[in-house]
Amino acid sequence: MQLIHETGWAEPPAAIDPPLTGDIDCDVVVIGGGGGGMSAALRLAENGVDVVLLEAQTLGWGATSRNAGYITNSIAADPELLGKLLKHDRLRDLYRYAENAVHFAEDAIARHGIDCGYQRAGIVMAAVSKGQLRHARRNAKVMAEAGSSAEFVEGPAAGLPEGFLGGMREGVGGTLNPGEFALGLRAATIAAGVRAYEHTPARDVTDTGDGVTVETTDGTVRARKALLTTNAHSAGLSIAPKNLATPVWTSLVETEPIAPERLDEIGWTSRAPMVTLHMIIESYRVTPRGTIVFGTRRVQTGRNPLPGRTPAQNVADDLVRGFRERFPGLHDVKPQRAWGGWIGMSSTWLPVAGEASDNVLYSLACNGHGFAQAQYVGHLLADRIGGAPLHDDLAAIWHGRKRFWPSLVSGPALYAAWLADRASDRLAALTN
Ligand SMILES: Cc1cc2nc3c(=O)[nH]c(=O)nc-3n(C[C@H](O)[C@H](O)[C@H](O)COP(=O)(O)OP(=O)(O)OC[C@H]3O[C@@H](n4cnc5c(N)ncnc54)[C@H](O)[C@@H]3O)c2cc1C
Repeated sequence: MQLIHETGWAEPPAAIDPPLTGDIDCDVVVIGGGGGGMSAALRLAENGVDVVLLEAQTLGWGATSRNAGYITNSIAADPELLGKLLKHDRLRDLYRYAENAVHFAEDAIARHGIDCGYQRAGIVMAAVSKGQLRHARRNAKVMAEAGSSAEFVEGPAAGLPEGFLGGMREGVGGTLNPGEFALGLRAATIAAGVRAYEHTPARDVTDTGDGVTVETTDGTVRARKALLTTNAHSAGLSIAPKNLATPVWTSLVETEPIAPERLDEIGWTSRAPMVTLHMIIESYRVTPRGTIVFGTRRVQTGRNPLPGRTPAQNVADDLVRGFRERFPGLHDVKPQRAWGGWIGMSSTWLPVAGEASDNVLYSLACNGHGFAQAQYVGHLLADRIGGAPLHDDLAAIWHGRKRFWPSLVSGPALYAAWLADRASDRLAALTN
């Protein structure tokens, strides 16, 4: 198995725009060119705003092109837990926001004609133990009561692989190739007239009262307003709210191609992409190239400045061990390669957007489930920065100027959660 730096989904962009040198002015500067930043810049350009987009690497380089490719209305925190902690109206608003984000991302694929193998497959939060199955039933109830399209599925009719007992099927969303999507969104962003500067990290952002000044390695951008869409890297900029994002390194493995008949033989007739109900999820999906991509389990925290890196060997090995346990019928299938990316965890585990200062807005819609949500929030923030009233879906995650509690996410806590998951697996092996 090869441990790679880049994503396994697609080649990096062929033509790279030059870095910024010298001083420029614009109306709005967007910092961070992932799905969130590109979507925001695109919307601003469509609205006739003179917009500059600064990206430290290449547009889409971060989590946007590296993720597992689920377009999901999930929110990082567990639905049952959210149902206990949040008022009904707040939960309903959050799931409406998340479902609208799915539709937004689907529309973006169609609007920009992005060829990224999108399959509207309905994702299953799948159970590998009787305890998880009961949990899935409760989750489906909470989500349905919150107005979200989710249903409980069980037994062979669910079309899941042997060993997966059923789960909660989300009624919207599906899977795509995020690398191809990122390339398509990059092309659309540049074509829309956004002045994009790649290999141009913002070093410092200052709100001067009458505008914003952004220092880069070899230049300066002066703007009326700025938008931070820097995800896990946010703490690298001192203007970002303290404790906004805890960086967590997350890894994926891709197998060699597998004959479709073998997936039928193990019972995966629905080909539904799955996410397990462990404390730290396992995800398994089939790709259009006939491979299986699986990931997460062991995750690791990091500190800004975040390095580009490969997955750790022991983490990739643990993922493969998990794959072997879940798919005994595919025992001979070889893992080909592994890659990973940085996700940004908010201290509440909920997506957030707000104001870092009078002229600087930020978003952190990630938490490992933000592929669609980051884009949608970027779009809504672009309208907000242009003077539009707070959209209901932006209001659902709006944090304003409030501070963030320090995060409970830490290396030891994540390791303890992984240990607890393995203990629950052992228990399930005895009782299933
Ligand atoms: C392995 C993995 C699997 C995942 N699976 C899923 C999934 O299946 N479904 C899902 O919904 N979500 C998933 N996620 C999460 C999802 O990918 C993210 O929520 C989403 O892509 C975040 O988009 P973004 O634009 O906010 O951030 P990013 O895509 O991370 O973009 C941030 C960009 O900002 C740039 N940047 C940072 N600092 C600076 C600076 N100072 N100056 C200039 N540029 C800067 C970075 O280089 C980066 O390109 C996964 C993430 C990972 C890593």
